[in-house]
Amino acid sequence: NQSSSQRLRIAIQKSGRLSKDSQKLLKSCGVKFNVNEQRLIAHADNMPIDLLRVRDDDIPGLVMDGVVDLGIIGENVLEEEQIERESLGKDAAYTKLRQLDFGACRLSLAVPNEFDYRDSGSLEGLRLATSYPNLLRRYMQSKGIVYKDCMLKGSVEVAPRAGLADGICDLVSTGATLEANGLYETEVIFKSMACIIQSSVPQSDAKQALIDKILSRVNGVIRARESKYILLHAPTDTLNEIVALLPGAENPTVLPLNDDTNRVAIHAVSSEDLFWDTMEELTKLGASSILVMPIEKMMG
Ligand code: ATP
Ligand code: MG
Repeated sequence: NQSSSQRLRIAIQKSGRLSKDSQKLLKSCGVKFNVNEQRLIAHADNMPIDLLRVRDDDIPGLVMDGVVDLGIIGENVLEEEQIERESLGKDAAYTKLRQLDFGACRLSLAVPNEFDYRDSGSLEGLRLATSYPNLLRRYMQSKGIVYKDCMLKGSVEVAPRAGLADGICDLVSTGATLEANGLYETEVIFKSMACIIQSSVPQSDAKQALIDKILSRVNGVIRARESKYILLHAPTDTLNEIVALLPGAENPTVLPLNDDTNRVAIHAVSSEDLFWDTMEELTKLGASSILVMPIEKMMG
């Protein structure tokens, strides 16, 4: 029985937009492994974890069937598979442990530049090319619009020009691909990020403890990536105004400066990056020696 394997199995995308970030995240969590491009499985050296490197489309199903314990996958692919399975009466249960900080994209409707688009009703009766027939159907049903499907696994953006469809429903991040194909985005139907999911199959205590440990490290890694360590010198009379400008740094450390009683040093962890505009505001309040530093790890 596969799910009784002693080692934790994590499915990640073999090669594509999510693979680098997925591997980097696990490495930042202290999982040591080397990927051999030819091999499906990578064994971690320092923890009982195996990585399964597969097509992203396969990841939701592997988790829902309990073949693997965890998966890192785009919410778009996950949701599409869930609707598909539910419509077929197949098992579609899983737990989303958390959203991650990469893989941002949106599933959008787009039509040729010359199309006279008013609202989604303009698509009534038309043919739409997509790789996400279930997400598209759910959206169009919610709007009460009848349309025709044109299922394409790839090259969706060329379908209108090729005369295969009147419009498309495809993933967009910058919109450059749409523009290059003479299309424009009309409506966002689903916003997506990568996420980490767990199978609903009950785990042994040891495996669940390992999952909890990985998740807590993922939380720490993402929190650290979003945070900055800030050091600066501030006049005591504008101290409160200066602290108020540091995002999410309510309780900074305030230290005396040698031979200067009018100024103090502030050390703070900010929950966001500090942008140039804020740094300029800080200097206007008399702050100096401002340093913004990345944080590598966070816990507690
Ligand atoms: P595979 O060979 O694993 O099936 P794929 O070609 O289906 O790969 P990729 O293009 O690598 O998939 O995209 C994987 C995921 O990355 C998407 O499902 C989506 O969640 C996310 N993503 C982020 N930005 C984009 C984008 N601009 N276009 C497409 N996907 C994006
Ligand atoms: Mg795919």
